[in-house]
Amino acid sequence: MSVAGADAKPVLRVAVAGKTYRPKGAAPVEAVRDLAFTIREGEIVCLIGPSGAGKTTTLRILLGLDTDFTGEVAGAEQAGIVFQEPRLLPWRSVEHNVRLGLAKPDRGRDLDALFERLGLTPWRASFPRALSLGMQRRVALARALAGGPKVLVLDEPFVSLDDNAAAELRALVVDTVDAAGMSVLMVTHNVAEAIAIADRLLLVSRRPATLVADITLDRPRRLRDRAWADATRTSLSARHPEVIAD
Ligand code: ADP
Ligand code: MG
Repeated sequence: MSVAGADAKPVLRVAVAGKTYRPKGAAPVEAVRDLAFTIREGEIVCLIGPSGAGKTTTLRILLGLDTDFTGEVAGAEQAGIVFQEPRLLPWRSVEHNVRLGLAKPDRGRDLDALFERLGLTPWRASFPRALSLGMQRRVALARALAGGPKVLVLDEPFVSLDDNAAAELRALVVDTVDAAGMSVLMVTHNVAEAIAIADRLLLVSRRPATLVADITLDRPRRLRDRAWADATRTSLSARHPEVIAD
C-alpha cells in the first residue's frame, strides 16, 4: 500500500466468503472463494486474473447487482461502472445515454464540462451506431462519471481497441480520476496496462477467484519508464507465474 493510501479513507470494501452459481440442470460453478480487499480514496487498483476466474462475478457482487453470495460488501452506492461492452441504448442519443447515469431528479444537470473532457461534444446528438467502439466506450465512461462517483469500476474497458485507441482512453481515465481525486478499480488481463497505471495490483487465482497477492507499485506514474515496467513484470511473473505469464 502506498504511504498516502495506507490511511486514506476506504471507499469500497469487499469481503466475499463464497459465490457459487447453481444453474438449473447443470453442475454448480464455484466462482469466488475468500476474496477480500479495500479500495481507498484516490487509488487506482487493478484486479488481474485468468479468464473465467470470477472477476466479473466479483464486480457484480461488489456493485450490489448480485446478492446471492456469502460475505459483505460496502460502498456500492459510491461507484460508477463501465462494463466490458458499452451497453448503450441504440435508440437514444449519446446525450440521453449519458444522462441515464444520473438519478432522475438530476437528469437536467449541466454536463458540458464532462462531454468536453471526454471529447464527446461533437457527438452529443448522435446515436451510438454512428460511433466507433472507442467512442462508444467513452460514452459508457461519461455515463459512469456523470453522477460524480467516488470510485470508478471498470471491467476490461480497453479490450478490442487498437493500441492507440486503448492508450488514449487509458490516459483519459487516469487524467480524469486524478483531477477528480476519484478511485479506480479496474479489471484487466493486460498486465502491461496494469503496471503502467496502478497504485496497487490485486492478483486472483483461476476459478474460484481467491486473492493471491496484493502488491503496491509505489513508483509515481510519471516516473514509470520502460525499464522499470519490464523489471516489474519479470519479478511479478517469477513470483506469481500462475497469474502472470512472462
Ligand atoms: P471472469 O470475469 O474472470 O472472466 P466470470 O466472473 O465472468 O469470469 O465467470 C466466472 C465463472 O462463472 C465462469 O466459469 C463462468 O462460466 C461462470 N458463470 C458466470 N456467470 C454465470 C451464470 N450466470 N451461471 C453459471 N455460471 C456462470
Ligand atoms: Mg469478465
